[in-house]
Amino acid sequence: MRGEELVKIFPSAFYLISKKVETMKPFRQLPKIDKLIADDSFKDLNKSILTNLAKRYIENLREKIKNNQIDKIDYSQIIKDLKQEYKLALKPSLRPIINATGVTIHTNLGRSLIDEAIYDGAKDVVCNYCNLEYDLDKGKRGDRYQHTTQALRELLNCEDALIVNNNAAAVFLILNTFAKDKESIVSRGELVEIGGSFRVPDVMRESGTKLVEVGTTNKTKFADYENAITDNTALLMKVHKSNYTIEGFTQEVDFNEISKLAKSKNLIDYYDLGSGYIPRLSWGLSEAEPSLDKLLECEPSLISFSGDKLFGSVQAGIILGKKELIAKLKKNQLLRMFRVDKVTLALLEQTILAYKLKKYEAIPTISMLNATVEELEKRANYLAKNFKIDYEIKERKTYVGGGTMPNRKIPTIIIALSGGAIALESHFRANGIIGRIEDEHFILDMRSLREKDFKQIIETVNML
Ligand SMILES: *Cc1c(COP(=O)(O)O)cnc(C)c1O
Repeated sequence: MRGEELVKIFPSAFYLISKKVETMKPFRQLPKIDKLIADDSFKDLNKSILTNLAKRYIENLREKIKNNQIDKIDYSQIIKDLKQEYKLALKPSLRPIINATGVTIHTNLGRSLIDEAIYDGAKDVVCNYCNLEYDLDKGKRGDRYQHTTQALRELLNCEDALIVNNNAAAVFLILNTFAKDKESIVSRGELVEIGGSFRVPDVMRESGTKLVEVGTTNKTKFADYENAITDNTALLMKVHKSNYTIEGFTQEVDFNEISKLAKSKNLIDYYDLGSGYIPRLSWGLSEAEPSLDKLLECEPSLISFSGDKLFGSVQAGIILGKKELIAKLKKNQLLRMFRVDKVTLALLEQTILAYKLKKYEAIPTISMLNATVEELEKRANYLAKNFKIDYEIKERKTYVGGGTMPNRKIPTIIIALSGGAIALESHFRANGIIGRIEDEHFILDMRSLREKDFKQIIETVNML
């Protein structure tokens, strides 16, 4: 006779039996929280973190017992699980990873690296009180921006500078200060979306300026700017196209022509450069785009760029230009919202000092981009000779990244590993190494790797 038939015949007996089964469930075996956390194996752990974890864990077990998912309690398993959960709970969410994608300025992976020497140089300022807003000569309140400004002026021979939180803030601040309720003229071909929801037309609207589009998507001429100027025009703006290119039947106006036109009409010329750089870049990158020194030769009213793209430093928006204009930017209340911390300023100043001394090896972005193919090949051989699996070393192409010169591929050396690409990719990712899949192979691209990454890569390869 089957169970349900028994129930039909002896309903009350079944009720008693099921009651009995309920009390036999191992609720009573669940450890008391205070006893559990007092266990010797937890003696070095933080009790309040542990209590929270233990409460959640035991609650979870209780649910499982109720739902008949478990029928006995394994005390040693509870201890083991809680120790593991404790470890995970204290593991920082933000952690270092190894960039084997070959993309040097990788926005998802933190953009530019800070060299340890630069970091150490900034450490004394960050870990102590400092003269952030204190004038040591006069013994009175000083200007937070003066430190980096002085260094930038000397480095680039520009009139003045201002540092804000990022380049997006720089664009907003400039438009809001000089062109609110007035017109700003921009080429239709430059109304770009940079990614991370930075859309030039939207940012302009939010800043309070009236966007005046000129030219067409593919062609904008000098006369387009000239004809669009009205009594209400405040600013002629050029925007770096950053992450897209127009090819074929195209035309755009050089910034120095826009700059001259603006000056002749008493308007402000402003170039949102996106990425600004100083030393010569290999692979024709310098020929494709002018360096900061070159741009500053036309004495622009204002230019701005990111601190953590080709400049190779910390996240910041760097504004360079005319002294009287920077003074007006400093008076805008919005600057208070965009202001940077001493950590940013200290790191940036260290980078600027390295530039002054031409110590480009202290700017990882620059030294990685400029490394020769021979150097990369040598390092690939040195790395891969430790691999216990088959591989191939080949020359390939990669991108700079960070919305910098999107149509420029630069040569690189890759190590293609033998084996299933998808499985390899996830094995490496689980071990903190992000590579890429190309031609159905998982590859490690030498362009964005440093020698200090090699040990972890070798260990990860040889785990396979
Ligand atoms: C990257 C970029 C920005 C945004 O700079 P963030 O420093 O990321 O805020 C703005 N304009 C252009 C042209 C860019 O390339």
